[in-house]
Amino acid sequence: MNRLIDTTGLQSAIEDFARPRNWDQFHSPKNLAMALTGEVGELVEIFQWLTEAQSREAMADPARAVHIHEELADVTIYLVRLASVLGVDLDAAVRDKLAKNAQKYPPPSVSFTYPQREGNT
Ligand SMILES: [Mg+2]
Repeated sequence: MNRLIDTTGLQSAIEDFARPRNWDQFHSPKNLAMALTGEVGELVEIFQWLTEAQSREAMADPARAVHIHEELADVTIYLVRLASVLGVDLDAAVRDKLAKNAQKYPPPSVSFTYPQREGNT
């Protein structure tokens, strides 16, 4: 079975970055979870005052696109580092959660479309 998320190379790259800087001492699960939350906040801040339609076009602005790339990278780095420190296989965790979600949210048996809310496009 193909892996959905293969973070092996990224885990090694992050470890290779952190080790010579002696940052392992700071990479406790608590600190990494807090850092992850901070980076998610930085990502959310980009979209904070945009309308739904503007958020869908956010990548059209080159400077904003760079910012989004950087924040997604920061989020991913901390997420992968946190999973690594905790010994969590993200691929297995995602597969397990998708299976649980499939049970919890079965597809509708009849054709169904979600109602459009004001501001949605
Ligand atoms: Mg950041």
